[in-house]
Amino acid sequence: MERRKKILITGAAGFLGSHLCDRFIKEDYHVIGMDNLITGQLKNIEHLFSLENFEFYHHDVSKFIHVPGELDYILHFASPASPIDYLKIPIQTLKVGSLGIHNCLGLAKAKGARVLIASTSEVYGDPSVHPQPEEYWGNVNPVGPRGVYDEAKRFQEAITMAYHTFHGVETRIIRIFNTYGPRMRLNDGRVLPAFIGQALRGEDLTIFGDGSQTRSFCYVDDLIEGIYRLLLSDYSQPVNVGNPDEISIADFAEEIIKLTGTDQKVIYKDLPTDDPKQRQPDITKAREILNWEPKVSRSEGLKITYDYFKSLSQDELNRIDHNNFDKYIIR
Ligand code: UDP
Repeated sequence: MERRKKILITGAAGFLGSHLCDRFIKEDYHVIGMDNLITGQLKNIEHLFSLENFEFYHHDVSKFIHVPGELDYILHFASPASPIDYLKIPIQTLKVGSLGIHNCLGLAKAKGARVLIASTSEVYGDPSVHPQPEEYWGNVNPVGPRGVYDEAKRFQEAITMAYHTFHGVETRIIRIFNTYGPRMRLNDGRVLPAFIGQALRGEDLTIFGDGSQTRSFCYVDDLIEGIYRLLLSDYSQPVNVGNPDEISIADFAEEIIKLTGTDQKVIYKDLPTDDPKQRQPDITKAREILNWEPKVSRSEGLKITYDYFKSLSQDELNRIDHNNFDKYIIR
């Protein structure tokens, strides 16, 4: 009988990591989920703990990683990924995108495994080219508040390419645009959970700036399919995966108010420093190379996501901060 393929997924208890665990379990892989639980939540993967082909390592990927036996694939998805999170834990954000990927690549080299890294539209910064194709080099402020995330992810791409060209490690780079769906943290600061949480608590929706900035939101199942296809492809250059359906944040607030059937008002707050004015993926490459494009419309995806948030307990809904960051912050 053929051996089950073995895959290490870092950031396994996070929003995307946990959906990836589900997908690879469904494909009959042996999945090792790794997470230090700074921003991840065990409840996202609790349902997998009883399976014989799932293991959980409570470990910080920025420290030396040991995986016994053979290993076929590594997905590096560990990282704080919302502006609020990486402002709270900037050093860990830099470490996971540098030391963390270095450990993953070293492990991949030792095991002959293929590595796929989660990169981001943030490598384009506040883009002056629109929509953003992979060839665009970006407009990033290295010393602004987003610098810790953007530059970590840019370094991550650079070291991944270096291991590919210098050591011949098989690598894949996905640039993920705004993605949403069940298991996002209600209070991670991102616009979608922020708006839905506010509507559910009967609060006004907070628009940062005048709301004319745009984003393009991809439903999580579409993204996971794109990741799966890229991993199994033979393409080692970066590929954008996202939904090109672009909307302004002001219009998005209106959509959420309609969706939740509330009569909340919007209020305006200052625009955060270096907040990108526009963002839309050019997915020509994903279409051509992966034969991939998003299938779930925003109205369908938002409905599923809203149902998920509605099912959370009142306690969870009202909790201001799930995470005890302080105990992890090493100064
Ligand atoms: N935003 C907002 N109100 C909020 C949270 C976010 O208007 O309560 C805006 C934010 O300034 C940005 C956009 O929504 O322009 C998307 O923010 P998010 O944090 O979700 O992710 P980003 O794409 O900026 O990384």
